[in-house]
Amino acid sequence: FTRLRVDGEIVSVEDPPKLDRYKNHSIEVVIDRLVMKKGLRKRLADSVELALKISDGIVVLDFPGSKNGEMTLSEQFACLDCNISFEELTPRMFSFNSPYGACKTCSGLGFYQEVHPDLIVPDQNLSISEGALVIYNSASKTGFYAQMVKAVTKYYGIDPDKPYKDLPEDQKEILMHGSGGERILMDYEGRSGRGQFHIKFEGFVNNLARRHKETESDNSREHIEQFMIQKPCARCSGDRLNPVVLAVKVGSKNIADYTRLSADAAYKYMLELKLNKTQKFIGQRIIKEIKERLKFLIDVGLGYITIDRGSATLSGGEAQRIRLATQIGSGLMGVLYILDEPSIGLHQKDNKRLIKTLERLRNLGNT
Ligand SMILES: [Zn+2]
Ligand SMILES: [Zn+2]
Repeated sequence: FTRLRVDGEIVSVEDPPKLDRYKNHSIEVVIDRLVMKKGLRKRLADSVELALKISDGIVVLDFPGSKNGEMTLSEQFACLDCNISFEELTPRMFSFNSPYGACKTCSGLGFYQEVHPDLIVPDQNLSISEGALVIYNSASKTGFYAQMVKAVTKYYGIDPDKPYKDLPEDQKEILMHGSGGERILMDYEGRSGRGQFHIKFEGFVNNLARRHKETESDNSREHIEQFMIQKPCARCSGDRLNPVVLAVKVGSKNIADYTRLSADAAYKYMLELKLNKTQKFIGQRIIKEIKERLKFLIDVGLGYITIDRGSATLSGGEAQRIRLATQIGSGLMGVLYILDEPSIGLHQKDNKRLIKTLERLRNLGNT
C-alpha cells in the first residue's frame, strides 16, 4: 500500500504525520482509487475483498466530489451507527420454542402471569373469618397460613368479622402487598409444639408470586395460577419472538404478522409477493413449500383458520381435517384411513373439495 488516511487526511506511507500519542487517531489504509468504467468490475471486487480481509469485514467507500459522501459497509450483521449487531440468521431463530428465537422477557410465551387481588378475594361481601381470602380456605383452618393471617389481622387491628369490602384501603393493601418488612410477632402452634417468632409478612400477592416462581411442583404451580391473570408481554406484545427476528420481513410482514393471517390470506400473500430476480432465486423453494401446505389446508375446508391458532382450540372436525391435510402433504401410500364424520362443521361448498382430497388420497394408493 502506498497511501493512508490518517484522521481524514490522505498521506503517503513514506511520509507519515507526527501523531500525538495521547489522542485517539483514525488510521485507514487506502486500498484502491478508481474511476468506474466498463471492465473494472473485477478489479473493484478484488479491492473490496482485500479491504474486507485486512479489516475483519469493514470497508469504507469514499466518493470524492459527490454529495453522497462516505459509505461504511460491513460483512458483519452489525450497524456502526445504531451500535447493534446480531448473529447470522438461522431457521431456529424463527421459533419461539427455541431459546435462540424466543423473546427474552417472556421466554416465548407471549404473555406473563400476574397475581391479581380480585382472584384472591372473589367475594368481597365475605369477612376474613367467613373465608374472604380463598387462598387459604383450602388449607387447614389451624395451619400455618391461618395462624399467619390471625397474627397479621391482630397486629394491624384488621377486623376479621367485617365484610372485606368495608375494610379501609390501607388494611387491604397490607393484606395484599405486605407490611414493607415490618416484623410481626406470631404465635404458632403446630404438631411439634408451640412457640412465638417474628415474621415479615410479604402480602398474599407477593407470597403467591414468589411461590409460583420458586416451586418445583407442577401441582402447586397450577394451584397458584388460579389466582393469576395473563397479560401480553410488554417487550414483544405477544409476538413471542425477540426483536432481531421480528425485524426480519418478507414483503411487508414479519413472521408474527404472517402467522396471524388465515390460510386463505397467507396463500394470497405468497401469490402476490413481489420479489426481484435474486430474491426469487433464493426464495423459490421455500415459497413453493409454503404455498403447497397452505393449499392442503384450504382444500380440506380450513382456509379460514389462522396459522397461529393453538391446536387446543380446534374443534374435533377441524383437528381431523388438519391431520388429513398433513397426510396429503406426506404423500404416503398403502394406508388405511378411518375417518369419523370428516365433513362435520364443514360448509356445503367445501364438501366437494374434501371429497376431491379423499379421491387424491385414494389415487395415491390408499384405502
Ligand atoms: Zn443502523
Ligand atoms: Zn415477550
